Amino acid sequence: MNTIVRKVDVSLIDKTIMEEASEILKNGGMVAFPTETVYGLGADALDEEASAKIYRAKGRPSDNPLIVHISDMEQIDRLVKRVPDKARKIMERFWPGPLTVILEKSDIVPKGTTGGLDTVAIRMPSHPVAMELIRVSGVPVAAPSANVSGRPSPTQSSHVEEDLCGKIDMIIDGGPVGIGIESTIVDCTCDTPVILRPGYITKEMLEDIIGDVDVDKALMKPMSEGVVPKAPGMKYKHYAPKADLTMYHGDIKNVENKINEMTKADTAAGRKVGIIASDETLDKYPLGTVISIGKRSDEDTIAHNLYRVLREFDSLGVDVIYGETFEDNRLGQAIMNRLLKAAGYHVENV
Ligand code: AMP
Ligand code: MG
Repeated sequence: MNTIVRKVDVSLIDKTIMEEASEILKNGGMVAFPTETVYGLGADALDEEASAKIYRAKGRPSDNPLIVHISDMEQIDRLVKRVPDKARKIMERFWPGPLTVILEKSDIVPKGTTGGLDTVAIRMPSHPVAMELIRVSGVPVAAPSANVSGRPSPTQSSHVEEDLCGKIDMIIDGGPVGIGIESTIVDCTCDTPVILRPGYITKEMLEDIIGDVDVDKALMKPMSEGVVPKAPGMKYKHYAPKADLTMYHGDIKNVENKINEMTKADTAAGRKVGIIASDETLDKYPLGTVISIGKRSDEDTIAHNLYRVLREFDSLGVDVIYGETFEDNRLGQAIMNRLLKAAGYHVENV
């Protein structure tokens, strides 16, 4: 398949390109587009065949449901059985934005889009290109991250091209995304909503609006054998670079020493080492390929750089990656959730 790549100026969106992309969506095709979180791979959410194409293009397990994107509050009533009060309140406060809400699905949403579940995940993105594409196409757009399943999510158009060129109809290049990690997912089918995936919208921000919110226990640790995860995506190794990643946790001096010790041994054995450092520690690692993910105190920048840095190590062809851990408050929890998954939960205390 020939993949059309079109650049758009986010401040002056070309109508012809939006119409071209919308025609593809309406005809059951796939278009990758920028959102404020990561790039999404979109198809008509109500067309089971179109959703099936997304799973094939990404190599995504068929029980890992897709998030349905809308551009207008009015679209939601057709997609779900009911909208509980708490769900409506957080949607009104944080939409458009990086929040996904899980609700009971209506009959028109095919199970091929929800990975066989009776619930559906819905989000209204705030990126102008995403908004315009959904609005012009007039259909709810199922869109997981536009990467090959298991690889780091795409935060710029070149990442999508790397993974999906030749497999999808079109890529809209709207430049690098803003936030850089996926939306917060909140299950609103129970009385006390539960965070299934941490993101830019934190527990505290949600609690300010609706009171108690729970956090799924499985977020920061591997799923145990035989447990059925609430968000099926939780059970898969995810966001992972090609090389094995190990994170070191503890006093930063100890972390530096441990990473240097490991790197020395690996280098002597002929292995190419990548190191995820921070601006503060960049000059503390004399060996290996060292990349800073940002300033330790600036979580927004760390989130923004995270997937790009993991992909950079892929293109450098390193054999092993060592990384520092980060605070797990506020956005840090979302950052550590992604890094832990990328590392297959391989963290050592030092
Ligand atoms: P992605 O779009 O690739 O970032 O992945 C979407 C995430 O949303 C996956 O982890 C899914 O498991 C989760 N998700 C989507 N729909 C549902 C649902 N109905 N119930 C629980 N989790 C969901
Ligand atoms: Mg994904």
